Amino acid sequence: MKIGIIGGGASGLLAAIVSKSKNNEVIIFERNNFCGKKILATGNGRCNYWNQDQNLLHYHSTNNELIRNIVNDNVDKKVLEFFDRLGIVPKIKNGYYYPFSNQASTIKNALITEVERLGIKVLNNFLVKNITINDNGFTVSSQDENITVDKLIIATGSYASPKTGSDGMGYNFLEKFDHTIIKPLPSLVQLKTKGNFLKMWSGVRAEAKVSLYEDDRFVREEIGELQLTNYGISGICVFNLSNYVARGLDNNKREEIVINFMPFINDDKLTWFINQTNLTNKNIKELLLSVLNEKIVEVILKESRLNSNKLFNEVNVNEQNILINYCTNFKLEVIGTNSFDEAQVCGGGVSLEEIDLSTMESKIIKNLYVTGELLDITGDCGGYNLGIAWRTGIIAGISIRGNND
Ligand SMILES: Cc1cc2nc3c(=O)[nH]c(=O)nc-3n(C[C@H](O)[C@H](O)[C@H](O)COP(=O)(O)OP(=O)(O)OC[C@H]3O[C@@H](n4cnc5c(N)ncnc54)[C@H](O)[C@@H]3O)c2cc1C
Repeated sequence: MKIGIIGGGASGLLAAIVSKSKNNEVIIFERNNFCGKKILATGNGRCNYWNQDQNLLHYHSTNNELIRNIVNDNVDKKVLEFFDRLGIVPKIKNGYYYPFSNQASTIKNALITEVERLGIKVLNNFLVKNITINDNGFTVSSQDENITVDKLIIATGSYASPKTGSDGMGYNFLEKFDHTIIKPLPSLVQLKTKGNFLKMWSGVRAEAKVSLYEDDRFVREEIGELQLTNYGISGICVFNLSNYVARGLDNNKREEIVINFMPFINDDKLTWFINQTNLTNKNIKELLLSVLNEKIVEVILKESRLNSNKLFNEVNVNEQNILINYCTNFKLEVIGTNSFDEAQVCGGGVSLEEIDLSTMESKIIKNLYVTGELLDITGDCGGYNLGIAWRTGIIAGISIRGNND
C-alpha cells in the first residue's frame, strides 16, 4: 500500500511516522525545501507543544459537541507517549509544555530524524497543484510530476502565516471533493480598534482584564499582559478573544472590548481602595500615575475630559464615577483583525461533520483523510493548536496503519 501525505507540517509528520509499517510505503509531499518550517516559528521559537489543562473550553468549532471525539484522555495519552518515545523531555511551566532545550528545532529535528529512520520518503520542493481520483487511487501532481497513491492525507494547514508554506490550498482541494468549508478567518491575531488616541499609548504593555461584548452581550473575558498598539490591541489575552471577534465581524455583529486597567480590584471597590490609601491626597493625574503607565494616564485624562488638577475627594460623585469607569471599563470598538499574515491560526475550515473523527477519513471520499488546522477546530493560545495537529495526525496514522507490522 502506498500512502501519500500532502504537507510535512506538524500533523503530516505525525501521520507519516504513525502510519508507517514494514508493509507500506509512505511519501510526504512538501512544498518547502524542508519539513516542519512552521514548527520552528511556534512559541516564539520555543514551541509550546502541549498543555496540561485540556478543558474542552480551550477548543472552538462550529460543531463544539464533536470536539471530544478528538480531544479526550485516550488520544491525549497517545500524544504524550509519542513524544516520550521520541525522547522529548518536556519543560513544564504553569502547565505549558516546551522542549527542555527551549528550542522549537528540538521538536522539528526529532520528527525529521524519526521520518528518516523509518524510511519514509520525503519529496521536498514538491508543490502539489492538483489531485485527481482514478481507479488506482489518488494522483498527486506538481508542475512536472504525477505520483499515484492508494490513500491520501491532506495536511496542508490553513491560510495562517503563509510564509511558512500554508496558503490555504488544502481548502480548494477539499472543496473540489464536495467538502463543506466553514469560512476560514484569522484567529489568534491582533485586533484593530477605533480611537484617535491609539498613537498616544502605542508600545505600552499592561496587566489588564479584557472583556469581549458582542452586540452588547458578554462573550468572554481574559486576564493577562495587554499590548497597546497604534492600530489597537494585542497580546495573548487579546488573541484568545480574536476567534469570536473575527466570526462576529464577519456576521456584521458589533464587537466591543472593555478593558479593566486595574484588574486587581473590582470597579465597585475602587472608590474604597482610593479612600483607604493616601491616593485621595493627590490630584487626579497624580492618583492615576501612582497606579498606571503614564501613557495610559494621558489617554484616560484626554478621553474622560476631567480636570486633572483636582483632588479626588474634591470632584463630585459623577466625576468620580467617570474616572473609575475609564480605569475599569475602558471601551474600544473593534473594527477588524490583522490579516492571515499575522494570524497564528485560522478559525473555520473543513466541517467536522463530514469527517469520521475516529479515523480522520472523509465521509465523502473513501481513503481520503484530513488532519490539522485544515479542520474546523481551533484552540486557544497555549499549545492547543499543535495539540490538534498531533492528535489528528496520530488518529489518521493509527487508522491507516491498522495491524500491519
Ligand atoms: C507564529 C506562530 C506561532 C505559533 N505558536 C504555536 C504554539 O506555540 N503552540 C501551538 O500549539 N500552536 C502554535 N501555532 C499554531 C501551529 O503551528 C499550527 O496550528 C500547526 O502547525 C498546524 O499544523 P498543520 O500540520 O495543520 O499545518 P502546518 O504546520 O501549517 O503544515 C502544513 C504544511 O503543508 C505544506 N503545504 C501546504 N500546501 C502545500 C501544497 N500545495 N503542496 C505541498 N505542501 C504544501 C506547508 O508548506 C506546510 O509545511 C503557531 C503558529 C504560528 C504561525
